[in-house]
Amino acid sequence: MTDLLDPAPLTATEIAEVEDAVARLLGTGATAADGTHDVLLVQAEAIAALEAVARSIAAPTATAVNVVTGPYGALFGDWMRASGARVIDVTSALDAAITVREVEAALDAAPEASVLALVHAEAATGGTNPVPEIVALARSRGLVTVLDAVASVGAEPVLPAEWGVDITVIGGQKSLAGPAGVSAAAISPAAWALIDANPAAPRSSFLSLTDIRDGWTRAGRQVVLGTPNVLETRALGQALARVAAEGLGAVITRHEGARAATVAGVEALGLALWQQDAAARAAVDTTVRLDASLASLAPASAGGRGTGAARGLGGILSSGNGPLAASLVRVNHTGRRAALGDVHDALERLAAAAGRDPGPALEAANAAFGVTAAV
Ligand SMILES: *Cc1c(COP(=O)(O)O)cnc(C)c1O
Repeated sequence: MTDLLDPAPLTATEIAEVEDAVARLLGTGATAADGTHDVLLVQAEAIAALEAVARSIAAPTATAVNVVTGPYGALFGDWMRASGARVIDVTSALDAAITVREVEAALDAAPEASVLALVHAEAATGGTNPVPEIVALARSRGLVTVLDAVASVGAEPVLPAEWGVDITVIGGQKSLAGPAGVSAAAISPAAWALIDANPAAPRSSFLSLTDIRDGWTRAGRQVVLGTPNVLETRALGQALARVAAEGLGAVITRHEGARAATVAGVEALGLALWQQDAAARAAVDTTVRLDASLASLAPASAGGRGTGAARGLGGILSSGNGPLAASLVRVNHTGRRAALGDVHDALERLAAAAGRDPGPALEAANAAFGVTAAV
């Protein structure tokens, strides 16, 4: 009963060590002085870090181009709008990634834009965007770039220094198999310059990134600000240590293997993937189109026989989020569940729902998982 209570206070050294581990994960330095970015922990779930970033970069006179391929991108645009920025959304269908051409056209039409924001992988749609190409394009035009890598980190390479992403936000709760209560942002000097020039950027606020920078990062990371989330910060440190022990490359390969196995199994079942284009399929989860053959997994409101939490779901198989519940089901091969056994279980549930023999799907999954995992 007392395991979670009365923990020893979190020391400045412990917090700095977790930041250092995030910096190693992202291939940046822990501070811009000794690397390319300042990495700072935000003592709240990633959604708070994302709101802090949006409100920090969105100056009332600024124009931002915002890529919307799912619910998180839409939310990010709303926060920038609420801060007074002019936001131009570049929107894809929910079953497709954005293309570099679409972003280029938006940038051509808005030469005054100073910010480009995009989500890497969207767990809600199982889609992933061509981030290195889009970031390179935005940088060639001098824009500050923001990447929501909460769902992609640990499942796909996330390389802010190599790609030149100015602000990257991550959380532990998806592919890193860690806690949700503490998140992190890696922020470049160019991004700080934009934030410092924004009179509307939060200051003396829970959403203030400059408060953390000035009170902690630039103050030598010696005095702990406020009362941090002791348990969640330690859990994030442990999650990062476990990823480092397995090897980030191996963790990514495991997610890629789980994706390949799921895709092969779903196709062997004769079911349709939600993301049409193979390159747009995220490694964090796989989404399956909820067509008539899977009607038993649809919520009752969508003509299915399920009741709210649809029957047949369970294991790593879940309903789509919100309105997507009527369109897709998610195979959450995420974190520790990026494993062949979990994929098998999901394929068996899908086969049962569709009234099909799971055998060929399991064989196809085995073959696909092995091929990817061996590369
Ligand atoms: C999961 C996720 C987040 C964090 O959101 P929560 O739903 O609060 O966990 C942020 N961005 C993306 C793209 C995500 O997939």
